Amino acid sequence: MIEATVEARHGHRLLVLPDAGLRLAAVTRGRRNDITVGDRVQARELGAGQAVIESVLPRRNLIQRSDAWRAKPLAANVDQVAVVIAPSPPFSDDLLSRVLIEAGAQDVPVALIANKADLFAASSEIGPRLSLYRSLGYPVFEVSARTEPDRCVASLSAWLSGRTTLLTGQSGMGKSTLVNCLVPDAGLRTQEISSALDAGRHTTTFTRLFALPAPLSGRLIDSPGFQNFGLEHLSGSQQLHAMPECRALLGQCRFHSCSHRDEPGCAIRSAVQDGRIDARRYALLLRLYEEARVSAPASWRR
Ligand code: GDP
Ligand code: ZN
Repeated sequence: MIEATVEARHGHRLLVLPDAGLRLAAVTRGRRNDITVGDRVQARELGAGQAVIESVLPRRNLIQRSDAWRAKPLAANVDQVAVVIAPSPPFSDDLLSRVLIEAGAQDVPVALIANKADLFAASSEIGPRLSLYRSLGYPVFEVSARTEPDRCVASLSAWLSGRTTLLTGQSGMGKSTLVNCLVPDAGLRTQEISSALDAGRHTTTFTRLFALPAPLSGRLIDSPGFQNFGLEHLSGSQQLHAMPECRALLGQCRFHSCSHRDEPGCAIRSAVQDGRIDARRYALLLRLYEEARVSAPASWRR
């Protein structure tokens, strides 16, 4: 029996990196469906580069997103999460905040990588938007992956090195460009992984783990760009707890079951009125409560 880290997964096929030795193609025993990139597993080698996964070791954490039907694991056992945003096409505050909330709920530190800094001067709104997240305590790295790749690597190097980072972002923010600057042969490595997984030559829409090359160290888990990021797997109080500006107000509303909408004595709403909570974040909070309410019957069926 060997121990290994899951490098990539496509359907029921997985690639694992043994602690000593070369990559193995692996399948799971039974129909275990929840194994994800970053998981630590115990596997039995079958020869010819094949293995069968016997068990998954306990996880330190699991980052996931969900729809009304199920939670979808993104990665396990990460040290930190990075969200790539950019001024053009404009990033979505809603999507960004959802990733921040999921990472916060799993107690995983999270930073923003504000890419396409070469376009910041032309955008009057990016500055104030970044200030909001800085004021909430999130580190923000301003980089230009395409126009200044060396500076981009230099500014992220200390934060990335020695850690396992999950890289996320909505499509179009320049995440692939950034991965190519951090892992110069990422394209080639992805093709290798894709053919080893039998995922089809042009399929790159799977999560995969890269070792960061020297002078950096650590690992980068690149996940496909997303258009939506449901948080139905979190309860309302878990979501509030993961919003830094709301955490201190938990339990301070007059009614225990407050929906923070129109009840008297709502601590959240009074913080919105005197500017301690940004109106955009409050709007998001209401949307999340609404989604949880609408999807409740679906979760109940599960
Ligand atoms: P992804 O969908 O997040 O993987 O984004 P891509 O890496 O495919 O990039 C989307 C577009 O943004 C491409 O046209 C890139 O050339 C462009 N892009 C990436 N980084 C930068 C940058 O630093 N500055 C500018 N101006 N464009 C960039
Ligand atoms: Zn309230």
